[in-house]
Amino acid sequence: ALRARMEERLLAARFRYINQQLYTSTSQEAAQLFQSDPEAFEIYHRGFAQQVGRWPENPVHRIVRYLRRRPASLVVADFGCGDCKIASSIKNKVHSFDLVPLSPLVTVCDMAKVPLAAESVDVAVFCLALMGTNLQEILEEANRVLKQGGTLMVAEVASRFEDIRAFVNAMAQLGFKSVSK
Ligand code: SAH
Repeated sequence: ALRARMEERLLAARFRYINQQLYTSTSQEAAQLFQSDPEAFEIYHRGFAQQVGRWPENPVHRIVRYLRRRPASLVVADFGCGDCKIASSIKNKVHSFDLVPLSPLVTVCDMAKVPLAAESVDVAVFCLALMGTNLQEILEEANRVLKQGGTLMVAEVASRFEDIRAFVNAMAQLGFKSVSK
């Protein structure tokens, strides 16, 4: 039991370390990290699932509930999709992007450059995935693939924001109007 507890704490620590790396490097560097160390990705995802499992609510479930209330004809892009909970929970066409394929539904790519035509999706999602210091480039990519009047959904840990108002203002400069916070 002691060994299991220690292993769990070690896993949690390695998860936090990799998570911090992802939030403090560019998306190109993140891609390199996972390419050079496939074990890092496996540890990251086990740690991620363990962490989110302790929260009162997993935001991805809320996003799924929202999407189920909207027409199934809407095309969705899931940036940093992880294990593709969105694609596997709704009827809509979902493009799922991640650096490493945790599921056969994943299109492997850097979310700063996704293989989609301009104005081709109705809803773009970043669920606990708005990582990378090249945030502006990533959000511009979401803006490029979204249709006019499309919806961008961001779920992020509150402590990740230095100033939420400044974030919303910066989003407005990128062309997004805040409709719900
Ligand atoms: N959205 C999922 C997973 C969140 S974990 C969920 O809510 O369950 C964050 C995910 O973003 C990880 O799978 C990580 O590999 C991915 N990610 C981080 N940087 C990325 C990048 N530059 N391009 C694509 N995916 C990225």
